[in-house]
Amino acid sequence: MTLAFKSFVKNSLLRAGHYGRALRRTRLPGVAVLCYHGVREDRLAPGSIPFQYLHIQASTFESHCRVIRGSCDPISLDDWRAAIDGRATLPDRPVLITFDDGYRSMLTLGAPILEKYRLPAVVFVCTGPMVSRRRLWFDDVAERDGEDAVEAWKSRDYQAWCAECASTSALDEGDPRALMTPAELGTLARAGGIEIGGHTVQHPILARAPASRQRQEIEENLRSIQQWTGRPVRTFAYPNGQPGLDYNADTMAILREAGIDIAFTTRYDFARPDEPPLERSRFLVLDNVSGGELAHRLTYSWPR
Ligand SMILES: [Zn+2]
Repeated sequence: MTLAFKSFVKNSLLRAGHYGRALRRTRLPGVAVLCYHGVREDRLAPGSIPFQYLHIQASTFESHCRVIRGSCDPISLDDWRAAIDGRATLPDRPVLITFDDGYRSMLTLGAPILEKYRLPAVVFVCTGPMVSRRRLWFDDVAERDGEDAVEAWKSRDYQAWCAECASTSALDEGDPRALMTPAELGTLARAGGIEIGGHTVQHPILARAPASRQRQEIEENLRSIQQWTGRPVRTFAYPNGQPGLDYNADTMAILREAGIDIAFTTRYDFARPDEPPLERSRFLVLDNVSGGELAHRLTYSWPR
Protein backbone atom coordinates (compact mmCIF):
# COMPACT_ATOMS: atom_id res chain seq x y z
CA MET A 1 0.00 0.00 0.00
CA THR A 2 1.24 3.47 -0.71
CA LEU A 3 1.59 5.99 2.07
CA ALA A 4 -1.17 8.14 0.60
CA PHE A 5 -3.52 5.14 0.52
CA LYS A 6 -2.68 4.16 4.11
CA SER A 7 -3.32 7.72 5.18
CA PHE A 8 -6.66 7.71 3.32
CA VAL A 9 -7.67 4.49 5.12
CA LYS A 10 -6.70 5.85 8.54
CA ASN A 11 -8.55 9.12 8.02
CA SER A 12 -11.62 7.17 6.85
CA LEU A 13 -11.44 4.98 9.98
CA LEU A 14 -11.14 8.15 12.07
CA ARG A 15 -14.22 9.68 10.45
CA ALA A 16 -16.16 6.43 10.96
CA GLY A 17 -15.41 6.62 14.69
CA HIS A 18 -13.23 3.47 14.77
CA TYR A 19 -10.29 4.99 16.65
CA GLY A 20 -12.56 6.82 19.07
CA ARG A 21 -14.20 3.53 20.07
CA ALA A 22 -10.89 1.65 20.22
CA LEU A 23 -9.16 4.41 22.22
CA ARG A 24 -11.93 4.56 24.78
CA ARG A 25 -11.20 0.88 25.57
CA THR A 26 -7.44 1.56 25.83
CA ARG A 27 -5.26 2.40 28.77
CA LEU A 28 -1.98 4.06 27.74
CA PRO A 29 1.25 2.81 29.41
CA GLY A 30 2.24 6.38 30.39
CA VAL A 31 1.63 9.97 29.35
CA ALA A 32 1.68 10.53 25.58
CA VAL A 33 3.68 13.76 25.45
CA LEU A 34 3.44 15.21 21.94
CA CYS A 35 6.31 17.41 20.76
CA TYR A 36 5.39 20.04 18.17
CA HIS A 37 7.40 23.03 16.92
CA GLY A 38 5.64 25.57 14.67
CA VAL A 39 2.19 25.76 13.09
CA ARG A 40 1.92 26.99 9.49
CA GLU A 41 -0.81 28.49 7.39
CA ASP A 42 -2.41 25.78 5.22
CA ARG A 43 -1.66 27.82 2.11
CA LEU A 44 2.15 27.89 2.64
CA ALA A 45 3.39 25.94 -0.39
CA PRO A 46 5.41 22.72 0.23
CA GLY A 47 9.16 23.40 0.32
CA SER A 48 8.77 27.11 1.12
CA ILE A 49 11.18 26.96 4.07
CA PRO A 50 13.85 24.48 5.27
CA PHE A 51 12.60 22.13 8.00
CA GLN A 52 9.04 22.85 6.93
CA TYR A 53 8.09 19.43 8.34
CA LEU A 54 8.54 20.89 11.85
CA HIS A 55 5.74 23.39 11.15
CA ILE A 56 2.45 21.51 11.09
CA GLN A 57 -0.44 22.80 8.96
CA ALA A 58 -3.06 24.53 11.08
CA SER A 59 -5.86 22.26 9.79
CA THR A 60 -3.81 19.13 10.62
CA PHE A 61 -3.11 20.46 14.11
CA GLU A 62 -6.83 21.06 14.55
CA SER A 63 -7.57 17.46 13.56
CA HIS A 64 -5.06 16.33 16.23
CA CYS A 65 -6.76 18.51 18.83
CA ARG A 66 -10.13 17.00 17.91
CA VAL A 67 -8.74 13.48 18.48
CA ILE A 68 -7.14 14.46 21.79
CA ARG A 69 -10.26 16.22 23.13
CA GLY A 70 -12.68 13.62 21.75
CA SER A 71 -10.95 10.33 22.58
CA CYS A 72 -8.12 10.99 25.05
CA ASP A 73 -7.65 12.71 28.41
CA PRO A 74 -5.73 15.96 27.89
CA ILE A 75 -3.69 16.96 30.95
CA SER A 76 -1.63 19.95 32.03
CA LEU A 77 1.78 19.69 33.66
CA ASP A 78 0.13 20.64 36.98
CA ASP A 79 -2.30 17.71 36.61
CA TRP A 80 0.74 15.49 36.13
CA ARG A 81 2.53 16.99 39.14
CA ALA A 82 -0.55 16.36 41.28
CA ALA A 83 -0.51 12.70 40.21
CA ILE A 84 3.24 12.40 40.89
CA ASP A 85 2.71 13.88 44.38
CA GLY A 86 -0.16 11.49 45.08
CA ARG A 87 -2.76 14.29 45.24
CA ALA A 88 -4.64 12.93 42.20
CA THR A 89 -4.57 10.01 39.79
CA LEU A 90 -3.80 10.19 36.11
CA PRO A 91 -6.64 9.37 33.71
CA ASP A 92 -6.42 6.29 31.46
CA ARG A 93 -5.35 8.09 28.28
CA PRO A 94 -3.29 11.09 29.39
CA VAL A 95 -1.98 13.31 26.58
CA LEU A 96 0.19 16.41 27.09
CA ILE A 97 0.80 18.82 24.20
CA THR A 98 4.20 20.57 24.06
CA PHE A 99 5.74 23.06 21.63
CA ASP A 100 9.50 23.66 21.36
CA ASP A 101 11.53 26.75 20.42
CA GLY A 102 9.05 29.63 20.79
CA TYR A 103 7.86 30.20 17.23
CA ARG A 104 5.31 33.02 16.97
CA SER A 105 3.03 30.73 14.95
CA MET A 106 2.40 28.78 18.16
CA LEU A 107 0.76 31.93 19.54
CA THR A 108 -1.00 33.16 16.40
CA LEU A 109 -2.17 29.86 14.88
CA GLY A 110 -1.72 27.19 17.58
CA ALA A 111 -3.09 28.91 20.70
CA PRO A 112 -6.55 29.73 19.24
CA ILE A 113 -7.00 26.06 18.26
CA LEU A 114 -5.91 24.92 21.73
CA GLU A 115 -8.39 27.37 23.22
CA LYS A 116 -11.20 26.17 20.97
CA TYR A 117 -10.71 22.59 22.22
CA ARG A 118 -9.85 23.70 25.79
CA LEU A 119 -6.46 21.96 25.68
CA PRO A 120 -3.60 22.80 28.05
CA ALA A 121 -0.04 22.92 26.69
CA VAL A 122 3.58 23.62 27.57
CA VAL A 123 5.75 25.90 25.42
CA PHE A 124 9.57 25.70 25.68
CA VAL A 125 11.34 28.83 24.46
CA CYS A 126 14.83 30.01 23.43
CA THR A 127 15.13 33.53 24.80
CA GLY A 128 18.24 34.83 22.96
CA PRO A 129 16.81 35.17 19.44
CA MET A 130 13.46 36.35 20.87
CA VAL A 131 15.25 39.49 22.05
CA SER A 132 17.69 39.94 19.15
CA ARG A 133 14.93 39.29 16.56
CA ARG A 134 17.17 36.86 14.71
CA ARG A 135 16.66 33.36 13.38
CA LEU A 136 17.32 30.30 15.51
CA TRP A 137 20.78 29.04 14.54
CA PHE A 138 19.60 25.87 12.79
CA ASP A 139 17.03 27.80 10.74
CA ASP A 140 19.81 30.18 9.74
CA VAL A 141 22.35 27.48 8.81
CA ALA A 142 19.68 25.56 6.88
CA GLU A 143 18.70 28.70 4.98
CA ARG A 144 22.34 29.35 4.05
CA ASP A 145 23.83 25.86 3.59
CA GLY A 146 20.88 23.45 3.53
CA GLU A 147 19.31 21.17 6.14
CA ASP A 148 22.14 18.60 6.02
CA ALA A 149 24.71 21.18 7.15
CA VAL A 150 22.89 21.51 10.48
CA GLU A 151 23.58 17.90 11.55
CA ALA A 152 27.35 18.37 11.22
CA TRP A 153 27.29 21.42 13.50
CA LYS A 154 25.49 19.50 16.24
CA SER A 155 28.57 17.36 16.92
CA ARG A 156 31.02 20.30 17.04
CA ASP A 157 32.49 21.75 20.21
CA TYR A 158 30.52 24.62 21.84
CA GLN A 159 33.19 27.27 21.20
CA ALA A 160 33.52 26.39 17.52
CA TRP A 161 29.72 26.31 17.21
CA CYS A 162 29.43 29.71 18.93
CA ALA A 163 31.98 31.29 16.62
CA GLU A 164 30.26 30.04 13.50
CA CYS A 165 26.57 29.58 14.28
CA ALA A 166 25.51 31.67 17.26
CA SER A 167 25.39 35.02 15.48
CA THR A 168 22.51 34.54 13.09
CA SER A 169 20.81 36.69 10.45
CA ALA A 170 18.14 39.24 11.23
CA LEU A 171 14.65 38.00 10.60
CA ASP A 172 11.75 39.35 8.58
CA GLU A 173 8.93 39.57 11.12
CA GLY A 174 6.54 38.03 8.56
CA ASP A 175 8.71 34.92 8.20
CA PRO A 176 6.92 31.73 9.39
CA ARG A 177 10.07 31.01 11.43
CA ALA A 178 9.87 34.27 13.43
CA LEU A 179 9.89 33.78 17.19
CA MET A 180 7.59 35.46 19.70
CA THR A 181 8.72 38.72 21.23
CA PRO A 182 9.14 38.86 25.03
CA ALA A 183 5.84 40.81 25.24
CA GLU A 184 4.04 38.16 23.16
CA LEU A 185 5.38 35.44 25.45
CA GLY A 186 3.95 37.36 28.41
CA THR A 187 0.56 37.48 26.65
CA LEU A 188 0.69 33.72 25.98
CA ALA A 189 1.62 32.95 29.59
CA ARG A 190 -1.28 35.06 30.91
CA ALA A 191 -3.85 33.50 28.55
CA GLY A 192 -4.34 30.55 30.90
CA GLY A 193 -3.79 26.86 30.30
CA ILE A 194 -0.28 27.37 28.92
CA GLU A 195 2.87 26.82 30.98
CA ILE A 196 6.17 28.26 29.73
CA GLY A 197 9.35 26.22 30.07
CA GLY A 198 13.06 26.75 29.42
CA HIS A 199 14.96 25.66 26.28
CA THR A 200 18.28 27.60 26.75
CA VAL A 201 19.28 31.03 25.42
CA GLN A 202 20.68 29.95 22.05
CA HIS A 203 19.70 26.29 21.53
CA PRO A 204 23.21 24.78 21.74
CA ILE A 205 23.84 21.05 22.13
CA LEU A 206 24.45 21.32 25.88
CA ALA A 207 26.63 18.20 26.15
CA ARG A 208 29.25 19.89 23.88
CA ALA A 209 29.62 22.79 26.33
CA PRO A 210 31.55 22.95 29.61
CA ALA A 211 29.38 23.04 32.74
CA SER A 212 29.96 26.79 33.25
CA ARG A 213 28.56 27.63 29.80
CA GLN A 214 25.67 25.20 30.26
CA ARG A 215 24.84 27.02 33.49
CA GLN A 216 24.85 30.37 31.65
CA GLU A 217 22.65 29.04 28.84
CA ILE A 218 20.13 27.64 31.33
CA GLU A 219 20.10 30.23 34.11
CA GLU A 220 19.88 33.26 31.81
CA ASN A 221 17.07 31.55 29.87
CA LEU A 222 15.05 30.81 33.02
CA ARG A 223 15.64 34.32 34.39
CA SER A 224 14.37 35.98 31.20
CA ILE A 225 11.23 33.84 31.09
CA GLN A 226 10.48 34.57 34.72
CA GLN A 227 10.95 38.28 34.08
CA TRP A 228 8.70 38.30 30.99
CA THR A 229 5.92 36.09 32.37
CA GLY A 230 6.08 36.99 36.06
CA ARG A 231 6.19 33.30 36.96
CA PRO A 232 8.96 30.98 38.13
CA VAL A 233 9.98 28.37 35.55
CA ARG A 234 9.61 24.76 36.63
CA THR A 235 10.01 22.79 33.41
CA PHE A 236 12.63 22.48 30.65
CA ALA A 237 13.23 20.71 27.32
CA TYR A 238 16.79 19.81 26.27
CA PRO A 239 17.70 21.21 22.83
CA ASN A 240 17.75 18.26 20.39
CA GLY A 241 17.00 16.15 23.45
CA GLN A 242 18.61 12.75 22.78
CA PRO A 243 19.47 10.98 26.06
CA GLY A 244 23.19 10.20 26.43
CA LEU A 245 24.09 12.52 23.52
CA ASP A 246 22.69 16.03 23.78
CA TYR A 247 22.84 16.66 27.57
CA ASN A 248 24.71 15.13 30.50
CA ALA A 249 24.83 14.79 34.30
CA ASP A 250 26.03 18.42 34.63
CA THR A 251 22.93 19.60 32.75
CA MET A 252 20.58 17.73 35.06
CA ALA A 253 22.40 18.97 38.20
CA ILE A 254 22.03 22.59 37.00
CA LEU A 255 18.32 22.07 36.28
CA ARG A 256 17.71 20.49 39.68
CA GLU A 257 19.45 23.40 41.38
CA ALA A 258 17.35 25.88 39.37
CA GLY A 259 14.10 24.34 40.65
CA ILE A 260 13.10 22.41 37.51
CA ASP A 261 10.93 19.46 38.49
CA ILE A 262 10.11 17.95 35.08
CA ALA A 263 12.41 17.97 32.02
CA PHE A 264 11.81 16.51 28.59
CA THR A 265 13.97 14.59 26.14
CA THR A 266 13.12 13.48 22.61
CA ARG A 267 13.32 9.75 23.45
CA TYR A 268 10.47 8.36 21.34
CA ASP A 269 8.23 6.64 23.87
CA PHE A 270 5.38 7.14 26.30
CA ALA A 271 6.51 8.92 29.47
CA ARG A 272 6.18 5.88 31.72
CA PRO A 273 5.72 6.10 35.48
CA ASP A 274 9.20 4.71 36.24
CA GLU A 275 11.08 7.32 34.16
CA PRO A 276 13.39 9.80 35.96
CA PRO A 277 11.49 13.13 36.28
CA LEU A 278 14.28 15.02 34.47
CA GLU A 279 14.31 12.60 31.52
CA ARG A 280 10.72 12.32 30.34
CA SER A 281 10.08 10.83 26.88
CA ARG A 282 8.11 12.49 24.09
CA PHE A 283 6.77 11.67 20.64
CA LEU A 284 8.04 14.11 18.02
CA VAL A 285 5.10 14.95 15.73
CA LEU A 286 5.85 16.10 12.18
CA ASP A 287 3.62 17.65 9.55
CA ASN A 288 2.98 14.36 7.71
CA VAL A 289 1.02 13.00 10.67
CA SER A 290 -2.68 13.37 9.82
CA GLY A 291 -5.45 13.23 12.42
CA GLY A 292 -6.09 9.59 11.44
CA GLU A 293 -2.38 8.79 11.71
CA LEU A 294 -2.15 10.32 15.21
CA ALA A 295 -5.21 8.33 16.31
CA HIS A 296 -3.70 5.15 14.81
CA ARG A 297 -0.41 5.68 16.62
CA LEU A 298 -2.13 6.37 19.95
CA THR A 299 -4.36 3.31 19.56
CA TYR A 300 -1.99 0.75 18.05
CA SER A 301 1.49 1.56 16.84
CA TRP A 302 3.28 3.50 19.57
CA PRO A 303 5.28 1.07 21.78
CA ARG A 304 3.19 -0.60 24.52
ZN1 LIG B 1 14.39 23.00 20.10
